[in-house]
This record gives sequence, C-alpha cells and structure tokens, in this order.
Amino acid sequence: MGLDVHSMCAECGGKCCRYFCFQIDAPDTFEEFDDIRWFLLHENISVHIEEGDWYISIANKCSALVPDGQSTKCSIYEDRPVICRGYSRDNCDHTGGDYEYEEQFDTPEDLVKYAKKVLGKKAYKKAKEKAYKKVAKKEAKAEKKRRKKAEAGK
Ligand code: SF4
Ligand code: SF4
Repeated sequence: MGLDVHSMCAECGGKCCRYFCFQIDAPDTFEEFDDIRWFLLHENISVHIEEGDWYISIANKCSALVPDGQSTKCSIYEDRPVICRGYSRDNCDHTGGDYEYEEQFDTPEDLVKYAKKVLGKKAYKKAKEKAYKKVAKKEAKAEKKRRKKAEAGK
C-alpha cells in the first residue's frame, strides 16, 4: 500500500491496493461458522487462519489506484491513508514470500467442510437444524403479530 510511482510499486501494478483484509472473531459455534459462510457467499471474499487468528479478505480494488501508462499509480499518493504509509515494501505482496496460512477458505463449501471437522458432523447437523427451527419459530411469531395488527386496523 505504499504505491510509489518512482519505485518497484510501478512495475508491480499495485498488488496491495487490490484488496483489504481484517481480523474477525474465531468461530466456535454453528451460528458463528454460519455467519462466515454468509461472508463467503458474497463475491470476492476469502477467509483464512494465520497463527490461530481468523481474517477476512475482500478483493476489491482501491478507487485511488488508477492506470498510469503500462502500469498503475496512487492518485492520492501525497494524501494516502496512514495504513498505506505504514505498509513496508520490504515484505509486501510483491517482495515477500508466499503467505503460509493454516487454512484458507475460498468457498462456503470449504468452510462447511472445516466446520464439520471441528464441530463434528452430527453436532453440526443438529445445531443447524436447531438454529433453522429457532429462526422459523421467531418468524412465525412475528408474522402472527403482523396479521393480528393488520386485522385490528381494518
Ligand atoms: S505490493 Fe509492494 S511493490 Fe506492489 S504496490 Fe504494494 S508495496 Fe508496492
Ligand atoms: S490509497 Fe493509494 S496506496 Fe493506498 S490502497 Fe489506495 S491506491 Fe494504494
């Protein structure tokens, strides 16, 4: 994120300016895994575990990254955010080695497979049924309330 037109950043094309990533809570329950499954149902999302911590990565180009001849440049370089200023080119997406993640989830299916491994297949199934039923019950109650209100308003 130090995209500097006078350096190797120009030849790299701004790899570090094409996504952002932040830590999320590690899931322990079916519901928490299911929330992450929901993240992964969206386009250009991946989740990984690094040194026991969970991260979500959103592959979405920064709008300040603009074409510059054969390459790209940061159109707000002098006013780029602090996080970009602090990103070291010594160990970046271009100069650093491959990331060594314990786990990487690119699809909801990858995550579900892992969740079943962690929670146990049967426990996962049971918790899923319970969670779905709980929501259905809540929704039925809300619907009943809506109907009653509508009837009262007639
Ligand atoms: S990945 Fe490295 S070389 Fe590429 S733009 Fe970012 S800081 Fe510069
Ligand atoms: S503000 Fe500039 S340096 Fe920071 S991510 Fe966007 S293009 Fe890259």
